[in-house]
Amino acid sequence: MKALVTRLSEILDHRGLITSGPEAAPYLEERRGRFRSESSVITRPRNAAEVQAVVRACIAEKVSLVPQGGNTGLCGGAVAGPDQVILSLERLKQVRGLDSANNTMTVEAGCILADLQAHAREAGRFFPLSLAAEGSCQIGGNLATNAGGINVLRYGNARDQILGLEAVMPSGEMLSDLHGLRKNNTGYDLKQLLIGSEGTLGIITAATLKLYPHPDQSATALAALRDLPASIAFLGQAQSGSGGTLCSFELMPRIGLEFACRHVTGCSEPMAASHDWYVLLSLQASGDAIDVGALLSRILETAFDAGEITDAVVASSEQQAQSLWKLREGLVEGQRFEGASIKHDISVPVSKVPEFIDKASAAVAEHVPGIRPCPFGHVGDGNIHLNLSQPVDMDGQDFLALWDEINDLVHDQVADLGGSFSAEHGVGISKISEMHKYKDPTALAVMAAIKRALDPDNLFNPGKVIPLPDADSR
Ligand SMILES: Cc1cc2nc3c(=O)[nH]c(=O)nc-3n(C[C@H](O)[C@H](O)[C@H](O)COP(=O)(O)OP(=O)(O)OC[C@H]3O[C@@H](n4cnc5c(N)ncnc54)[C@H](O)[C@@H]3O)c2cc1C
Repeated sequence: MKALVTRLSEILDHRGLITSGPEAAPYLEERRGRFRSESSVITRPRNAAEVQAVVRACIAEKVSLVPQGGNTGLCGGAVAGPDQVILSLERLKQVRGLDSANNTMTVEAGCILADLQAHAREAGRFFPLSLAAEGSCQIGGNLATNAGGINVLRYGNARDQILGLEAVMPSGEMLSDLHGLRKNNTGYDLKQLLIGSEGTLGIITAATLKLYPHPDQSATALAALRDLPASIAFLGQAQSGSGGTLCSFELMPRIGLEFACRHVTGCSEPMAASHDWYVLLSLQASGDAIDVGALLSRILETAFDAGEITDAVVASSEQQAQSLWKLREGLVEGQRFEGASIKHDISVPVSKVPEFIDKASAAVAEHVPGIRPCPFGHVGDGNIHLNLSQPVDMDGQDFLALWDEINDLVHDQVADLGGSFSAEHGVGISKISEMHKYKDPTALAVMAAIKRALDPDNLFNPGKVIPLPDADSR
């Protein structure tokens, strides 16, 4: 490590290398406090060439490295051990170009997601990837985790937003594929291999992203559901009635709304009566050929007539729309004040969302009487965050001690319904045991073969996503 630090100090400027002191703290802390990095070498290269030089120096000394973006990941993927180098991409912040006619933007990995949305907006374009951590997460981290968020229903995940990629590979070579082509059938699609690989196959330094016309019209409503199964019929009707303009369809339970209203400034009861389940839906369009306000009214009327919804609030201004979205975001924020919670990020086929929620909630309630399930999220794409708050009269640490057994109960239900134990946050280190338990063995073997072929010394984010049983624990 000493020889490596000397070499790194030659490669990087004085702000590019941190080996101790308070400056290191933000890179070592993990958001949920479940893990802590023990690395004593943090590198902050300024550009792709410096990233490549750092990688080559690590390869020469056979020291493993852990890429780090905004450090907002929820699976411990950016956590580094004592003999590992953290490679922060935060100084790679250039927007290398925006091609309005081609509807593309080429950006460096360390750009903050919200800044990229703003950059696209200034050019009259729209970059649709959007999630609650967008003020801190970086596009490199978004691609490395194949992030989802609130617009997946219409625009897809991060992997659907990308046309080209630049990355430093475990060989130390630069994969440079930053074209903005929408058609290119020249062999394996390597960018898609790197997306979602959580830093185990390459370090993303830049990407060419797809842009869309900026939606200058939007319509938002909060609807109270007759019951949970009605969410699926309502979704189908909203999809077919929206002419492709439905962007978000977010489920919220009564308890989540109560958490938000109880603890979060700016959140208040949206309707006179209280209801068990709500859906926040949003339509967007550009140009004036479609009137999304009229479409939304028709969707709600049809749902009332069919008995799928029993009440609704339609936002009449952008400010009101934001207040409704504040409830959705406040639900997560508010839950923090309700003591310890155990969270899940699962997906099942959309048609099975109600069955999953019923069965998983019943299973955990039987195991821990008084547990408070708060299932919410992207019901439009079958991705539910089943956040479980501790019983009010239980000690928080005692509740958290049940983490693994509660995970098993929930993930067994997911597996029975043909779902995935990780829908958008990834695997990192926190879901390695689930990989062994639920992932198809052939898929695991193929993933291990790819990892070994590209990174035979297991230097890129070892121990994450796909543990290699016979690899050394560097
Ligand atoms: C409040 C909140 C809300 C969230 N909501 C969502 C949501 O709706 N949808 C969703 O999908 N996620 C969500 N997340 C999770 C998180 O924001 C995403 O996983 C995000 O994409 C991580 O980006 P990051 O830059 O913070 O990456 P990090 O946390 O720094 O890293 C995540 C993983 O990617 C790797 N990595 C980072 N940068 C690179 C790179 N340049 N090259 C290669 N590997 C790299 C790291 O090694 C690590 O394995 C949320 C998190 C929070 C805190």
